[in-house]
Amino acid sequence: MAEVDSLPLARFTTLRTGAAPERMREARTRAELLDALHEIWADRDEWFVLGGGSNLFVGDEPFDGTVVRVLTQGIERLPGASAGTARVRVEAGHDWDALVAYTVAEGLAGIEAMSGIPGTVGAAPVQNVGAYGQDIAQTLVEVELVDEASGEVSVVPAADLGLGFRTSVLKHHYGSVPARRAVILSVTLDLLEVGHGDHPVRGEQLRQALGLEPGSSVSLGWVRDHVLSTRRRKGMVLDEADADTASAGSFFQNAIVSEQFARSLPPECPRWPLQPTIEPVRVIPLDRFDGWVPAPVAHAVDVKVSAAWLIEHAGIGKGFRLPRSRAAVSSKHALALTNQGGASAAELAELARFIQQRVQQEFGLILQPEPVLVGVEL
Ligand SMILES: Cc1cc2nc3c(=O)[nH]c(=O)nc-3n(C[C@H](O)[C@H](O)[C@H](O)COP(=O)(O)OP(=O)(O)OC[C@H]3O[C@@H](n4cnc5c(N)ncnc54)[C@H](O)[C@@H]3O)c2cc1C
Repeated sequence: MAEVDSLPLARFTTLRTGAAPERMREARTRAELLDALHEIWADRDEWFVLGGGSNLFVGDEPFDGTVVRVLTQGIERLPGASAGTARVRVEAGHDWDALVAYTVAEGLAGIEAMSGIPGTVGAAPVQNVGAYGQDIAQTLVEVELVDEASGEVSVVPAADLGLGFRTSVLKHHYGSVPARRAVILSVTLDLLEVGHGDHPVRGEQLRQALGLEPGSSVSLGWVRDHVLSTRRRKGMVLDEADADTASAGSFFQNAIVSEQFARSLPPECPRWPLQPTIEPVRVIPLDRFDGWVPAPVAHAVDVKVSAAWLIEHAGIGKGFRLPRSRAAVSSKHALALTNQGGASAAELAELARFIQQRVQQEFGLILQPEPVLVGVEL
């Protein structure tokens, strides 16, 4: 397992920030990755793994520990779990969009709407990546991972990963620690064999994004091409020549608030009620049943509200930047903070805090960052 010269993380992160860490390693095989992690954990060193650096906001001070670049590669096609399905197991360091391109070329449906998302396959379950109504939770069967607590490798079913909206038990949310500190080694997906012809597009959100009528049929290749061009228009496909893509995608998460709080927001603010938790069937043991069945408890409904709308209506338009700052809101997408060339993490953090304050003053809620923050305070 190679310890390599430590280089500025700005070279590996799409926000283009981050000093060189104390130590850096590269793992091209699974054995190298496991060796590196076991050594680091035995030494009780600080650490994190780096995939494509597209969901990381790294600070200007050197990280005092080891950064492990995950560069493992490979797609293995396995027999499907049932007729008409196919299973793929993919190594963690494999490029996500290369996997999507492979599945489309093979006529396998399930992740085509997530074309163009940067980063690695191993990082995809960490925040349950998604776009246009598809997320990895819909096709993920299991992951192989290694836990820091035990050093053991195990196969963990998707149901045990706590996958939710841009979250899982593995994600390092700002201000908290992950529920499970572990590194994903491989990801297994179940996909549908639909071939290269037209088939009905599933999902209202995807149909709307692609401008299709209900009941429309198109090929996987058509979906991929159209998703890529829609994303390019929003600066959501990496492009060296376009500074609006030097971002971490959406910098702020759509806010999840109570229904009561949502009513205090202007009615034009886009919102999507989340499914209420359905109360499980109540079983009353016979020896405690006194003939009275309690009324079901009413669960409050949470509502997801558009962070982009809140930002723009707090007076921060696309392209906004603070005086003399090299950090700016993307000129194509209000949720993306971008590095317009040479911006420090401090400049980007200043812009992020300014946006949070404006939204808080205007609407009374604090937007939370979506990327993982390392050595940066908001
Ligand atoms: C232009 C742009 C558009 C984007 N669009 C979307 C989008 O549409 N939808 C969406 O969901 N996201 C989007 N993102 C965010 C990002 O691409 C995804 O979150 C992606 O999955 C991150 O992968 P990565 O390999 O770059 O992770 P990194 O940024 O390298 O790491 C992110 C986190 O995951 C951890 N991690 C990385 N690999 C592993 C592993 N093998 N095991 C355990 N932990 C690991 C890291 O330690 C870190 O905490 C976008 C980003 C950009 C820059």
